[in-house]
Amino acid sequence: MDVLDSLDPQLLAHAMQVLRLCVWLVLLAAIFTPLERLFASHPKEIFRKGFVTDLGYYFLSSLLPSVLLSVPLAPLAWGIHRVIPAGFTMAVAAWPVWARVATSILVGEVGFYWGHRWSHEIPLLWRFHAIHHSAEHLDYLVNTRAHPVDMVFTRLCGLVPLYVLGLGSPATKEGSLIPVLVVLLGTIWGFFIHANVKWRFGPMEWLVATPAFHHWHHTNDSPQLYNKNYAALLPWVDRIFGTLHLPPDKQPERYGIDAPVSPVLFGQLVEPFLLWRKPSAPAEQAASARAASLPGETRAAHAADAPELIREK
Ligand SMILES: [Zn+2]
Ligand SMILES: [Zn+2]
Repeated sequence: MDVLDSLDPQLLAHAMQVLRLCVWLVLLAAIFTPLERLFASHPKEIFRKGFVTDLGYYFLSSLLPSVLLSVPLAPLAWGIHRVIPAGFTMAVAAWPVWARVATSILVGEVGFYWGHRWSHEIPLLWRFHAIHHSAEHLDYLVNTRAHPVDMVFTRLCGLVPLYVLGLGSPATKEGSLIPVLVVLLGTIWGFFIHANVKWRFGPMEWLVATPAFHHWHHTNDSPQLYNKNYAALLPWVDRIFGTLHLPPDKQPERYGIDAPVSPVLFGQLVEPFLLWRKPSAPAEQAASARAASLPGETRAAHAADAPELIREK
């Protein structure tokens, strides 16, 4: 106890946070490792390629993005809070908790969908998001493989609409509860949808995101299958925006991306900032593939106009 008392309280708090993450990691491994052995969608080793890098991401993604996120989110939330009429915020605050939580999940999901979609379609954002897609084997731990810039951007897209609609507020401590809940739900569900399990859930798959749904998002089988299934929780959001791909009796064969990505954590964190490197955007590849399937003259016209095709979903 004397040793603990002599430690810097902030250092102690950080150490406790790391310890808590270790406990969560053991719990996650205890749940998913046996399930992924028994019901594997693609048989693979536990310590597969990139496992150590993803362990590094587990700690990094749990500690860093929340700190980084507060840098843009705090001023944005306060700015929005000043602009939104107090009467509107009070009216929303008077809703029953279940209505506020349900609306927040829906609104957060639509915000996340578009943040994720832009991360595929805008080359600058894809540089960072490509790290998540570089995984060649999917399992629960791939959920944490994300560049901090990518995580901050998509979370921001999911959370800002909540503050605009008065479902979150920076003015009180309770005002952050629902935004935190939305992020937590997405994170926990993320481990499940990345899991290497072959389970199918019938019609339920159209309502709630499943491993089959998200695995198609990671497929590298064909460029025509890129840019599908952006939702984190609700696949019908993809259906509304025309990006759903969920065949009932098939599963992807290959995952990953064709562009080379550094095998080590540090390299993956730095590479997206090296603007002279040109990673191939899946959106551009999908556009070229579609153009290639068109007849002669039309193909030439479309090849010169790839961005238009990217938007044509
Ligand atoms: Zn993606
Ligand atoms: Zn993923």
